Amino acid sequence: MKSYDDLIAGYQRFRTGTWQTQHARWEELREGQSPKVMVIACSDSRVDPAQIFDVDPGEIFVVRNVAAMVPPFETSPGQHGVSAALEFAVQFLEVEHIVVMGHGLCGGCQAALTQSMHGRALGRGGFVAQWIAMLDEVREPIAREFGTTGREAERAMELAAVKKSLENLRTFPCVQEKEADGSLALHGAFFAISDGILHRLDETSGLFSAAG
Ligand SMILES: [Zn+2]
Repeated sequence: MKSYDDLIAGYQRFRTGTWQTQHARWEELREGQSPKVMVIACSDSRVDPAQIFDVDPGEIFVVRNVAAMVPPFETSPGQHGVSAALEFAVQFLEVEHIVVMGHGLCGGCQAALTQSMHGRALGRGGFVAQWIAMLDEVREPIAREFGTTGREAERAMELAAVKKSLENLRTFPCVQEKEADGSLALHGAFFAISDGILHRLDETSGLFSAAG
């Protein structure tokens, strides 16, 4: 595992390697960014969207958080980080696609399923508990059918979380408007860590299937 010194050594390789060879690209990016795709992914260290989608700097606008969740449109006071990023991407960058990418072996989804952080103090698991409580509603039928432990239940929760984030995305008026006029498309995806396969959601059937 990497230490901070290892990261600095990595940065030095970047500065003398990739940064030099892609100098023209960075010159262009200095003028601004115009990504056409926003990706919402989990903070999990194993699921870096730029690596999985093999894209260059400037190509995807990314938000990562516990379990790749989008909260519903809320007007309560507070610091709505995901909503701010979404607003910026949709209204100012005018992205044409939003991809919600869940993943296998997701600790956030597992905690939502087992409610293992339930009742903990803020800063000791309570923030995670509050955050993933937005999955409580979709958890119920899964827990009834599959229980709360084991890969079958966990996978069901991970896939349901992607659908919940898409549902919550559609509570934002700017998303509704742009999806309706065809200038924005939403996509659900799931990266299975164990075999490295990306699955795409077909929203008509509700099923995920391997991409290519
Ligand atoms: Zn995760």
